Amino acid sequence: MALVATSALASGAPAKGPMVASLQVDARDVARRLLTAQMDIPVAPGPMELNYVEWTPGNHNPSGPIQNVVDLVITDDLGDRLDWRRDPEKMTRLFLDIPDGAGVVTVRFSYITNQPSVISRSTDSYGFPTFGGLNWNTVLFYPGDVDKDDYLIEPELRLPGDWNIATSLAIESQRPGQILFKTVSLAELVDSPVIYGSTLRTYELQTNSASPHFIHAVAAFDEQTDLGEERLQKFGKMVDQAEAVFGPFPREEYHFLVLLSDDLAGFGVEHNKSTYIAEPQDTFNDAEEKADPIGVIPHEYIHAWCGKLRTPAGLLATDYDTTGDTHLLWVYEGMTTYYSDILAVRSGLMTEDEYVNSITNRIAEYELREGRTWRSVEDTAVALRFLRGRSASWGDRRRGVAYYAEGALFWMEADAIIRNGTRGEKSLDDFTRAFFHVTPGRPGSPVTYTLEDIVTGLRHVYPDQDWAGLVNERLEEPVKTLSLDYLTSKLGYELVFVDEPSEEQTKAIERNKGADVRYSLGLTTNKDGGVTRIVPDSLADKADLAYGMTILAVNHYTYTPERLRQAVARTPDTGAVTLLVEFGDKVEEKMLRYDGGAKYPKLVRRRGVDTLEGIMARR
Ligand SMILES: [Zn+2]
Repeated sequence: MALVATSALASGAPAKGPMVASLQVDARDVARRLLTAQMDIPVAPGPMELNYVEWTPGNHNPSGPIQNVVDLVITDDLGDRLDWRRDPEKMTRLFLDIPDGAGVVTVRFSYITNQPSVISRSTDSYGFPTFGGLNWNTVLFYPGDVDKDDYLIEPELRLPGDWNIATSLAIESQRPGQILFKTVSLAELVDSPVIYGSTLRTYELQTNSASPHFIHAVAAFDEQTDLGEERLQKFGKMVDQAEAVFGPFPREEYHFLVLLSDDLAGFGVEHNKSTYIAEPQDTFNDAEEKADPIGVIPHEYIHAWCGKLRTPAGLLATDYDTTGDTHLLWVYEGMTTYYSDILAVRSGLMTEDEYVNSITNRIAEYELREGRTWRSVEDTAVALRFLRGRSASWGDRRRGVAYYAEGALFWMEADAIIRNGTRGEKSLDDFTRAFFHVTPGRPGSPVTYTLEDIVTGLRHVYPDQDWAGLVNERLEEPVKTLSLDYLTSKLGYELVFVDEPSEEQTKAIERNKGADVRYSLGLTTNKDGGVTRIVPDSLADKADLAYGMTILAVNHYTYTPERLRQAVARTPDTGAVTLLVEFGDKVEEKMLRYDGGAKYPKLVRRRGVDTLEGIMARR
């Protein structure tokens, strides 16, 4: 014990119990994309493993960005530098030998920020001249034999003197540029990202919830963090609508931590008491033009229940380096996707037209995905590790992370079945309220569920449906086509294609810098004519067009997106579209015979029930 105390004092840290590690992170150089970290870890003599978080919670991937850890030096409290060796089978694991007499090792390293891998984006750390974001998993190691819920860490953060922070972590003491947080478990620390900056602005939402909710935003300039009163009110209503669906918010407080920057790819990741989000810099002060009315806000918030309060068994093991079983992500992400639109429309973040447009696009778009004939939705969840960041080449054959959108379509069908079968007396909201009515576990230990629990819960709400059979048919097996019978029989709508875009589709065309003629010719292009998608079995496919080709001319005029759209719209008169296409060194003319004109998906109201009305209705 004496050794621990001596060493702790020598390194400037206060003395503490044997199981408490200290972590000091210095972010004063983060504008130059560098963080430095020092950890003092109590140890016992003998062989030791040090781990870096590999399976970062929320992105369901072995994504711990250890490639950005540099200048790693480990010393002991006897004053010696210790050799370390990396596990050839696991890049995130280091081996070292603790000499007799040593009681603490000090691990010093730097972390290069703003260098995420495709899958580490949402759990990575970033720095800019006036703001940044910190995920603790990027700046810590932990002994291999500890339980993440019991292992205690005392975190401390240094940052530029005029910067403020936002996080769900409780603060022990604070002076300008230096913050000591209350000691927390490893699990809670990894679950508690921080945003910081001189531009930080904090808003408390007006809600009926017993727990306070905050939105914090950082950006390059002050005006970008101005949310506006109207949107704030809607976010508050969104919280109330979420509680009406899922039950009381399960934690004592919640923080939306939003980084606003065009230099960050958009992302969002869920935590128990917060969410770490990146959106384009003008998201808040330019909302009218947004394609998606900030859908990431309700999405990540729903995860506080669906994902964090309850999670599929096996998805997150007791540590951060065991392979997760992701096959039930169609519940975790699919239900969240289904309800994020619903909360948006019920709280006014989305208009009813925007909501209908969103589900119309989802249905029409996913009908094109030919990959469903060889792999199930469930397989896209199991194989998530190589489906994130995939190439777009033949993307419809590969199939992407379909468990989001097609999972959402399953839940919409389930909702329609319940509403229809009970003549509107019950809905999927009855399932969610009961299913998420559990006592919260500790932050890193959600209450788990199996497929059987899902089926049992659905049967409780509506027994007259073979739920296991429906799950099997829709999600566990490959299928030829999307089953859309329920659209008409249970929702009261039918999917048709029309030649005039809706108001929402017109806005999408204006935002889209390329041309989208996937429902007619079967392809999409970027602004320069690059082919970005070929729909299998479409006219474009049959004409041997491919991803990566460039359309130089449309009907003998230089390509512009508008000319391609117009050429398609005129085909009832012309009967064809002629494309001059470049592929590598070769240039070829392709004539696509087609007289169907422009095609835009539309949900048309049929007689009888209108279940969508009930789904959109505020609670
Ligand atoms: Zn999600």
